[in-house]
Amino acid sequence: MPSTSDNQIQWHSQYDNNNPPAKPEGFVRFIVISDTHSTQPKVPEGDVLLHSGDLTDIGGTKAFEEQLAWLGSLPHRYKFIIGGNHDFGLDDRKSWYTEKGKNIHAKLGFTHASPDQIQQAITRFESQSKPNGRNKYVEDEQIEFSIGEKNWTLYGSPWSPEFGGWAWNYKRGQEAKELYNRVSNSDILLTHTPPHRLGRLDVITDGKTHVGCEELTEQLEQGKLRPLLHCFGHIHEAYGTHLQTWDKRAEGHSQTLLLNAALVEMNTKMLVAESVIKLPILTVMRWLGYQSPAWLQVGLKYSVKNL
Ligand SMILES: [Zn+2]
Repeated sequence: MPSTSDNQIQWHSQYDNNNPPAKPEGFVRFIVISDTHSTQPKVPEGDVLLHSGDLTDIGGTKAFEEQLAWLGSLPHRYKFIIGGNHDFGLDDRKSWYTEKGKNIHAKLGFTHASPDQIQQAITRFESQSKPNGRNKYVEDEQIEFSIGEKNWTLYGSPWSPEFGGWAWNYKRGQEAKELYNRVSNSDILLTHTPPHRLGRLDVITDGKTHVGCEELTEQLEQGKLRPLLHCFGHIHEAYGTHLQTWDKRAEGHSQTLLLNAALVEMNTKMLVAESVIKLPILTVMRWLGYQSPAWLQVGLKYSVKNL
């Protein structure tokens, strides 16, 4: 059923994934997914595909090669992806994998990843860009693209607050502040972590504890960041959407649609829930699907599938 928050924005949810609503004339459709964790769900067609990290279960070379080949094969004109805390072999910019991630892999009994081979898979993904389109792995940078007669800015950040010392972790407080001070205000913000306590998109399974990033919320509330879309994942059980209208005026958008687009969940129930948001020149579709979990419990137990 569609629900409407005001005249500008409306969205649909719980419709048949095999028969999604038609894209209105002149609109741009964004498909937002996250936390695919080595699964390859059916993704609806759209103009722009956004992936908010955790492409893999635990960041092995083969898993990246398969995920990136799959993403590269999808028909969307633009595809923008970031990493997440599970994407070990991707985080070697400051030798994190070589110095730390490798040891965690060894401790958990996984084969070492090859950051070089993973970078080659990224290069192949990017070289599969459509004519007049772009596939791009985005890491701590702002990019621009043009579609629907609008130039869009997008910023991608793979980081999340410390949890087990996995890839792209930061300490809450000063380290978080420094990190988000470097993020540029953009129309679309892709982060792996949810912000703290904006809607219930960061609540863990106890139903009450918010674990999102406080600093990210601060930046949004203060108006340093004012995206139209803020897409993330990470806290799988908190998937959903939340439309935030800001009191404090700032440069950028007066409303932000927040999407926790995590796909894989910790149970085996099959669920399809999607949403479409309509703005004057924008349609967003969020796709959610339960897969048979390739993993059983966060950070503790994994199947060895696709490593
Ligand atoms: Zn995840």
